[in-house]
Amino acid sequence: MPEGHTIHRLARRLNETLGGETVRASSPQGRFEGGAAAIDGNGLISAEAWGKYLFCDFGTGEVLHVHLGLIGKFRTRAFPPEEPTGAVRLRLVGSEHTWDLSGPTRCELLTPDEQDRIVERLGPDPLRRDADPSAARARLARTERPIGATLLDQSIIAGIGNVYRAELLFVCGIHPARPSTTITDTEFEAIWDETVRLLRIGERSGRIVTTDPEEIGRPRSRMRREDRLYVYHREHCRRCGAALRTDRIGGRPITHCPTCQPAKRRPRARARSPRR
Ligand SMILES: [Zn+2]
Repeated sequence: MPEGHTIHRLARRLNETLGGETVRASSPQGRFEGGAAAIDGNGLISAEAWGKYLFCDFGTGEVLHVHLGLIGKFRTRAFPPEEPTGAVRLRLVGSEHTWDLSGPTRCELLTPDEQDRIVERLGPDPLRRDADPSAARARLARTERPIGATLLDQSIIAGIGNVYRAELLFVCGIHPARPSTTITDTEFEAIWDETVRLLRIGERSGRIVTTDPEEIGRPRSRMRREDRLYVYHREHCRRCGAALRTDRIGGRPITHCPTCQPAKRRPRARARSPRR
C-alpha cells in the first residue's frame, strides 16, 4: 500500500504536469464515465494529499477523490495518448501529459461537505504545512494500544504505513509494543520530527530511505536497495547486529531490534539516532 509520501508526490506531479491546463477526462474502462464527463474540459486547479487520500479540484463544485488502496496506480503514460492498456478507470490528458488511473479502491466525485467528513476522520498529516501535531499528541495520550498499532491508525497521524512505522520506531529507539499512553512528550516530539523528516525524503526521492547516508557511507541516491532501511524485512540489526524480532502488532507484522528498542524506556540520548 502506498504510504503518504507517495500520494504527496503524486499530487505535486499532477500539479506540475496538469495544473492550470484544460484537461480531457475519460473512463476507458467505463466504470467512471459519469464522473469523467463532469471533469472533462475543465482545468485542474489543484491536487492535494491528506495522508493516503488524494483530492483534485477541477473547479466543478465537486472534488475528485482517489484512494489507491493496495494495487491502485496513477501514472503518466505516453503523450500523445495511446490505446490504454488494462482497465483504466480514469484518463486525464493535458497539453503535454497523459495520466492513467487503474485499480483504485476509490475514484469518486465528492461534495465539499463529503470531503470535509473524510478529512475530519484523519489525524494531522506530517507532510502538510497546516499539520498540527498537538492533535496527534492528544489522541495518542488517550489510548493504551501499542504505539506500533497507533502509528498505523490514520485517525491519529495520517500517512504512515507499515514500512515507515517500523523504521520510525527503530530510529526513535521505541519498542513497538509499548502502550501509547507511556510515550513521553519528548518521545512524541522525536516521532513527529522523524516522521516529517523521513516522509519528506520519501516524497522528494520517490522511495523510502530511512538510513543515514553517513552510516551507510554513500548518498541516498546511490544506496543499494538493501541499505535503505534499518529493520523492515531485515534479519539482523544494521546498527548493533542483534537478531531482529518480528511481532504482529496492529494486525500486521513489525520487525524491531530487542537491543536498540528496549521494552523499557531508556534515556533519550541513548535511544535516539546519533545523527540527525
Ligand atoms: Zn540494534
